[in-house]
Amino acid sequence: MQEYSIAVLPGDGIGPEVIKQANKILKILESKLEIKLNLNEFPVGGAGYEATGHPLPDETMDGARKADAVLLGAVGGPKWESIDFSLRPERALLGLRSNLGLFANLRPAKIFDALTDASTLKREVVEKLDILVVRELTGGIYFGKPRGVETLEDGSRKGFNTLVYTESEIKRIAKVAFEVAQKRQGRVCSVDKANVLECTGLWREIVTDFAKDYPDVALEHMYVDNCAMQLVRNPKQFDVILTTNMFGDILSDEASMLTGSIGMLPSASVGGKGGMFEPIHGSAPDIAGKDWANPLATILSVGMMFKYSFDLEKANGWLETAVESVLNDGYRTKDIMSEGGKEAGTEQMGDLVAAKLEKLC
Ligand code: NAD
Repeated sequence: MQEYSIAVLPGDGIGPEVIKQANKILKILESKLEIKLNLNEFPVGGAGYEATGHPLPDETMDGARKADAVLLGAVGGPKWESIDFSLRPERALLGLRSNLGLFANLRPAKIFDALTDASTLKREVVEKLDILVVRELTGGIYFGKPRGVETLEDGSRKGFNTLVYTESEIKRIAKVAFEVAQKRQGRVCSVDKANVLECTGLWREIVTDFAKDYPDVALEHMYVDNCAMQLVRNPKQFDVILTTNMFGDILSDEASMLTGSIGMLPSASVGGKGGMFEPIHGSAPDIAGKDWANPLATILSVGMMFKYSFDLEKANGWLETAVESVLNDGYRTKDIMSEGGKEAGTEQMGDLVAAKLEKLC
């Protein structure tokens, strides 16, 4: 029997609530696919800090390294906002991504038919939307050195970060975007700020050169400010958006709102050992503990794990169909609630998808 090990990192706030729903799904997939899943849970973020004094405890990092894939809830919260930057819960994410070499973040923004009216944009603008943001994840300004805050001679302070990309970092993320585009509509839009930042001028040059090896993929370039505008003006013009760490962080949150709620969108971080799968939302301290959190992004992240880390794409298809079917039945968590919808809490939404999955496969 095929075995897979998964490091489960629930984290903080709504993290443990949505991970609990994902665990229900994993149990069903295990029996339906006749595989063995070894789940090992570790603390991360604020929970890691409380347990060991560090947001990414050694035991958690070791567990993640040994696993075939990592499933993460979310980290952070007001309780840890005043501690030193290096110990903040969010630092654990950067540590996991860089230690596991997960340099590519895939964030689909796909709208379910039943939620077309949950978007703040007009139906005709978002109907059938299906775009994928490929964000570079372990380089750029979030990692570049020098960085910090210094006191100047006159006593005032100066803060600085550095935007750095090497040729090989650009090529390897471009490869991910072009290969994934070949399996979609065959279009890549590379987003940069080449008119102002030399580093992204190099990005544009290398991506243009790289595209010559992919004659079946159409490449266009766009400045980030224009892309932010085009995403709300006419998002369906995009297929795959390829971009840097910081631009991808911002644009993928913007793209998420086109689909109705940040609570709907999964993500996959791949490229190195295994892969890490997580909803794109944070720990949502404002709704934690209320059974209000939408678990669908986390459940769909499980689908991405089976597709990208275990090569079991059919499980991803089953999960998308199960989620779609629950939404078609009219069930909605608060964040996607609309007139006539049947309100479901986190637990009930998890149970509903699990029940559909049982019947489907
Ligand atoms: P957030 O994503 O946690 O919340 C933004 C808004 O969306 C809130 O109103 C929240 O209630 C709502 N929301 C988020 N997820 C939801 C869900 N599944 N269902 C229903 N509603 C949902 O972002 P924030 O408020 O900026 O950050 C809160 C904390 O999370 C901060 O500490 C931040 O650093 C951290 N954070 C963590 C991650 C991560 O773990 N990957 C990502 C982003 C933010």
